[in-house]
Amino acid sequence: MIQVSNVSKSYTPESVALQPITFNIEAGEVVYIIGESGSGKSTLLKIIAGLEDADSGNVRLDDLEITGPAHNLVPGYDELAYVPQDFKLQQFWTVATNIAKKISHYPYADKMDRVEELLKLCKLEAYADRYPRELSGGQQQRIAMAAAVSDEPEVVLLDEPFSNLDLPMKAAVRKDIIGMLRKLGITVVLVSHDPAEALAVADKIIILQEGKLEQIGRPVDLYQNPTSHYAAKFLGPIN
Ligand code: ATP
Ligand code: MG
Repeated sequence: MIQVSNVSKSYTPESVALQPITFNIEAGEVVYIIGESGSGKSTLLKIIAGLEDADSGNVRLDDLEITGPAHNLVPGYDELAYVPQDFKLQQFWTVATNIAKKISHYPYADKMDRVEELLKLCKLEAYADRYPRELSGGQQQRIAMAAAVSDEPEVVLLDEPFSNLDLPMKAAVRKDIIGMLRKLGITVVLVSHDPAEALAVADKIIILQEGKLEQIGRPVDLYQNPTSHYAAKFLGPIN
């Protein structure tokens, strides 16, 4: 469904953010991108989102060229939703309005039904009339993601969506959100700093090191057969 072919990126002549990188993502997969700080994770996600131009190569979403010389999609197109790490809900709108404003595919009369359905999916149906400031960080995060998927994108790109939550909250929110996205059949590409989470949740893991694709594969394959010291060290000891 997503084909990344020979994509590279340098922001400055002296440093390479991404070396030519090639991989595929299948429809419905949950893919984790992990790697040390500065390894190019956010850069890769932004290029897939069409928010950053690649220096070489291209990204295709089925038959649509997202980036590269012929790109014919612009940021904000419907097939793909992107939630940056520093997402913002509109503070003066209720939870329901925050989600409803993102819905364009549904006729007006059906919008509130759709909002209700999304709130139910992320287990926040009692919060429709609250304002963001009355919600915890994790609840706001769920609303941001419900809003991002409200128009039923085919793909959702999430940059460290669980990073500022404590461990028990993180596990619960992660389970809810990934569960919701899987239920909707949405393809997920997620940047994370947490190899344990990637091993537990992902269908496929991409390990980046200094802008290079170090290894890609199913969690079990990466864990049992890391092809480099970096991958082995990054995924952690068996316990
Ligand atoms: P982190 O885990 O810290 O978020 P990351 O893996 O997401 O890191 P990127 O943000 O993709 O890393 O950055 C990759 C490299 O590109 C880094 O060396 C970074 O300094 C550089 N970089 C990123 N954005 C820019 C920019 N707008 N201008 C110049 N250099 C940039
Ligand atoms: Mg980043």
